Amino acid sequence: MAVELYSFKEIEKIKKACDVVVAVLQNLAKAVRPGISTYELDLMAREEARKRGAKPAFLNYKPPFSNERFPASLCVSVNEAVVHGVPKKEQIIKEGDIVSLDFGAYLEGYAGDSALTVAVGEVSKEKKLLMEATQEALREAVKVCVPGNWVSDIVATIHGVAKKYGLYTLKNLGGHGIGKKVHEEPFIPNHPETLAREKKDYKLRQGMVVAIEPMLALGTDEIAHDGDRWTVITADGSPAAHYEYVVAITKQGPVVLTEYKHA
Ligand code: MG
Ligand code: MG
Repeated sequence: MAVELYSFKEIEKIKKACDVVVAVLQNLAKAVRPGISTYELDLMAREEARKRGAKPAFLNYKPPFSNERFPASLCVSVNEAVVHGVPKKEQIIKEGDIVSLDFGAYLEGYAGDSALTVAVGEVSKEKKLLMEATQEALREAVKVCVPGNWVSDIVATIHGVAKKYGLYTLKNLGGHGIGKKVHEEPFIPNHPETLAREKKDYKLRQGMVVAIEPMLALGTDEIAHDGDRWTVITADGSPAAHYEYVVAITKQGPVVLTEYKHA
């Protein structure tokens, strides 16, 4: 499959979908507190999308690596869960957790996708460092999203920041192109070994729109699967953090389409 290139007008449409995603995630982030179930967060995500005329992108989504459809609108990945966490009625958030919220939506034929990690009350020093380093990896990766650079530059940047802090990027996971579909080419791994295995690199070009999503872990670069067949966890059970921005690659440089208002 070829990499899609988008016009300025189309990028504006992707931005509108991203605006909805960011608004939903910001409201969800405020709702994360001890005692709430991950299932309740999923219901909120559905309702927040509906209010804005958007369609959740992950509900019933069937990725190439699965024969099943994702059963929820929101991915909620707590502590050692990295991504694709399935919300559950019995999974209750507690003080000290770090909670990754990942949401995608379609609006007027274009997709938005973003993720952030929320600290619940006081979290450990290690978890704080993990969250800060993952945000730094994202900021630094955005900077290399300029025409003429390569996907491998993004991979090296994310991996480099992780290493600087003695942390790990996770194998087999990563970001992706986005636009008319929520997941498009190219795949943008977080780990150089995964990129090497893919045996393909892409030159970044004006008009490419990419979702950059570093996932960093405290103790390992290996992943495993939880019993629900979706939730990806760290192989050693150490915590992981995850952030995701959508970035348009333009002649003028990277333009982040998922801007957050920070409190
Ligand atoms: Mg996402
Ligand atoms: Mg994504």
